[in-house]
Amino acid sequence: MTDNVRVRFAPSPTGGLHLGGVRTVLFNYLFAKKHGGKFILRIEDTDQSRYVEGAEQYIADCLDWCGFHADESPLAGGPYGPYRQSERKPLYRQYAERLVQEGYAYYAFDTSAELEAKRKEIPNFQYGHAHRMEMKNSISLPQEEVQQLLDSGAPYVIRIRIPEGETISFIDLIRGDVTFDAGLSDDKVLLKADGMPTYHLAVVVDDYLMKITHAFRGEEWLPSAPVHLLLWKYLGWEDDMPKWAHLPLILKPDGNGKLSKRDGARLGFPVYAMNWTDPATAEITPGFREIGFMPEAFINMLAMLGWNDGTEQELFSLEELIEKFSLEHVSKAGAKFNYEKAKWFSAEW
Ligand code: GLU
Repeated sequence: MTDNVRVRFAPSPTGGLHLGGVRTVLFNYLFAKKHGGKFILRIEDTDQSRYVEGAEQYIADCLDWCGFHADESPLAGGPYGPYRQSERKPLYRQYAERLVQEGYAYYAFDTSAELEAKRKEIPNFQYGHAHRMEMKNSISLPQEEVQQLLDSGAPYVIRIRIPEGETISFIDLIRGDVTFDAGLSDDKVLLKADGMPTYHLAVVVDDYLMKITHAFRGEEWLPSAPVHLLLWKYLGWEDDMPKWAHLPLILKPDGNGKLSKRDGARLGFPVYAMNWTDPATAEITPGFREIGFMPEAFINMLAMLGWNDGTEQELFSLEELIEKFSLEHVSKAGAKFNYEKAKWFSAEW
């Protein structure tokens, strides 16, 4: 492995950081430190409608408490900043426009009422190759009309043009070969009418510009991978695409679905690293720090959720985890959260 490993944790400040998020940080961090690389914190705050005041600070505090100090971040700065996506808006537009010029994306002028009407008319409507020509966009409309709309300041979004029947594959560091029929995806919006990029465009542009070599993220992002792969290809950056690892979910104690904050409230255990106060309701959800876990015990417990070193050893210091961590020992299956066992880690430390 070269010494230029660069990984990122890229949370959206939409709420408190729960166990799954902290475990994603942990695996990123262990991998970076094991290979003498850099750990980057990037705030993905492009969806202003889901922005929650205080969430970014909370995330930063959690990382501090755990001891995961970012080498580059909105606070620490770094050579590839700014590290907050809302401060990088002009960059994304430039790449979205380039995709339009090269025919990989297009302007779409449909109003929300028009989209709504179409959804009513066609069950399971997807804005994509099947219906693209029936809509109001720069592929279906004559060039002069498109120009008029643009000149008149009509609002528009930029959508990726997903080709029909495009099979796409990549090698996931945990799952191995993954193949998708990318043509099943709709033409995702890349740039919104307010000029903000969507996650799909921003994540690709930033992973490229920030020279990310390995991207660890939750497996809920796997279905988005085909769109991202196409973007890497269309932007001509395929050779620089990070290696991806989609991490298995943390499951409810009975294995039935993803662990959620409601499970904590119902079953009486914390799902956050630190107390999270919901700014909307002032409701406090308890965290591991407040109930007396030491950060070392908490991290050790998290590492065991979906990883083992292939031996019986269950207690590791952070230094040992860094030394022993390897992706071969991350399980492909979801890990069931067991609070009794979590407490045992804490007591034994
Ligand atoms: N902003 C995404 C999230 O909130 C990050 C996904 C990724 O790491 O690519 O989970």
